[in-house]
Amino acid sequence: MPLSDNQPDDFPEIQPVSVPDHPVWPELTPEDKRRLEETIREMLESLNGVLVAHYYTHPDVQALAEKTGGCVADSLEMARFGTRHTAQTLVVAGVRFMGETAKILNPEKRVYMPDLAATCSLDEACPAEEFSRFCDLHPDHTVVVYANTSARVKARADWVVTSGIAAPLIEHLAAKGEKILWAPDRHLGRYLEMTTGADMLLWPGSCVVHEEFRSVALARVTRLHPDAAILVHPESPESVISQAHVVGSTTALIKAVSTMENKKFIVATDKGIFYKMRQAAPDKILIEAPTVGEGATCQACAECPWMGLNSLQSLTAGLENKTGEIRIDPLIRDQAVVPIRRMLQFAETLKKDDKD
Ligand code: SF4
Repeated sequence: MPLSDNQPDDFPEIQPVSVPDHPVWPELTPEDKRRLEETIREMLESLNGVLVAHYYTHPDVQALAEKTGGCVADSLEMARFGTRHTAQTLVVAGVRFMGETAKILNPEKRVYMPDLAATCSLDEACPAEEFSRFCDLHPDHTVVVYANTSARVKARADWVVTSGIAAPLIEHLAAKGEKILWAPDRHLGRYLEMTTGADMLLWPGSCVVHEEFRSVALARVTRLHPDAAILVHPESPESVISQAHVVGSTTALIKAVSTMENKKFIVATDKGIFYKMRQAAPDKILIEAPTVGEGATCQACAECPWMGLNSLQSLTAGLENKTGEIRIDPLIRDQAVVPIRRMLQFAETLKKDDKD
């Protein structure tokens, strides 16, 4: 599915990603919640562990990470936090590529996840063998992959990026005249191509959550709230991005809620982010961007079904049974760590430039 005029016709056939229903967890009484939190806290202590949670996980999981000295962050900051922390065990609440990144960066630490079935449609849409063959067909391109990929795909890349750092890195490479092979999110790739003017080949993957935001319905909601700022994650379709006041990573969108003067925000990303947005700006009004439209029964409910596998219940069971340990072939790890470290070093350079 080429998005740009210069897209090749040699894309491999990608199987459609099978998307599960969003898991439904039994409601917890305050007493149940307190008991589960206490159990997880004790297990973290016994493992010398720390809980690292993504913004899209259930609010109970994010709250527990904060209460136990862990962190709630985007995938770039999750990677940094796990590396800096002295804990011997990282318990990663998010999706599998986040646990894999933690293990790649910290091979000496144990990394557990509540449920190893927590994958990502971007990761699934970029099988390592097909991707590697595609790279072989375009040896004159620098291979830049999004963090939402498997360890094997990262091992084939020159660079790994998160949404928070993608634009400055692509600009940096384009300024050196490099042609870029980008995978796997075609919407983010298209957005980067438009904003940086880089010469990019775009792998045709997409996020099942962000792809469901609808531009016509968003325009209708905007007419009802003309004073609202529209915040959009760049994994969304171009027609949704084009209506945004702010396009950015999860961290950038949370920052926008607290720094912009608007009282109201229409938010086009996974609704797990509302926990941190409410914390950052409790007096602001947050409105969910529409997905498939009013009255729809949806897989498109702006809640990632795989992020939904993270709950207090699954954390407890995962740690008790030790079923979610991340293991990575050392040879793959040695290759995958190179482009991830490049990203972290590039991020440090940007921070330093900001301070200068
Ligand atoms: S929200 Fe989208 S990009 Fe994030 S983990 Fe879920 S499927 Fe992947």
